[in-house]
Amino acid sequence: MARKSVSGVCRICGDEGPLSYEHVPPEAAFNNERVLEANPKRLLEGEDYLTNPRGKFNQRGAGAYTLCVRCNSYMGSCYAPAYIDFAKQCMKPARSLPTGAFADITLQFYPLRVLKQFVAMHCSANPPEGPRFARFLLNKHDKNIMRPRMLLSLRDEKRSRITRQAGAVGVLNAETGENGLFSEISFPPFNSILILDGYGEAKNLTDVSWFVNYSFNEITEASIRFFNLPAVTPFPGDYTDIAS
Ligand SMILES: [Zn+2]
Repeated sequence: MARKSVSGVCRICGDEGPLSYEHVPPEAAFNNERVLEANPKRLLEGEDYLTNPRGKFNQRGAGAYTLCVRCNSYMGSCYAPAYIDFAKQCMKPARSLPTGAFADITLQFYPLRVLKQFVAMHCSANPPEGPRFARFLLNKHDKNIMRPRMLLSLRDEKRSRITRQAGAVGVLNAETGENGLFSEISFPPFNSILILDGYGEAKNLTDVSWFVNYSFNEITEASIRFFNLPAVTPFPGDYTDIAS
């Protein structure tokens, strides 16, 4: 099948030109089968998403034409392999831990590479709004990331029913009155949230922003407490389990 040619603004460097298909997450990290992607717009139409999760099937695996060839191949060579390895280590607990439970998981990984891959995936999931993370992502040694926070949980693979990639969602915490802006990707074996602005509440999510404290070539072994949370509804950041 002939691949279509797509032009637009690269979500990482901000250059306009031909775009390549970016798998988010990388194809080798459980993203080589068709996926059901949530379509938040359908929520407004009052569909019964619990009995009939609305979305569209993406036959290529999750992703879109979002990055220029240069950025796509730089992410693919510098960060994707470390992410794929990290994801593989986390898939077993995501499949076996009870819903809502947590475990202290011992992982061997390249923290900075993994963090950069998560940030790159969130850039890819967001609309182009300027190369906010260009320097951080296009220089593998750069650690000057303006301190956005990255929050992670395992994604409960027994209960989850939908994948989600939501760019820049605004939230208002009714209890604290806090405003916030975050982007979410829910795809096996993680739920990841990139805090873009504000947003204090992070129940059951593990802050992994400290991954930035490592250098590009540093590998570490660490025990990280992760909760196992399901993605059932199409709402970004909602990890409510609903009995089927
Ligand atoms: Zn680019």
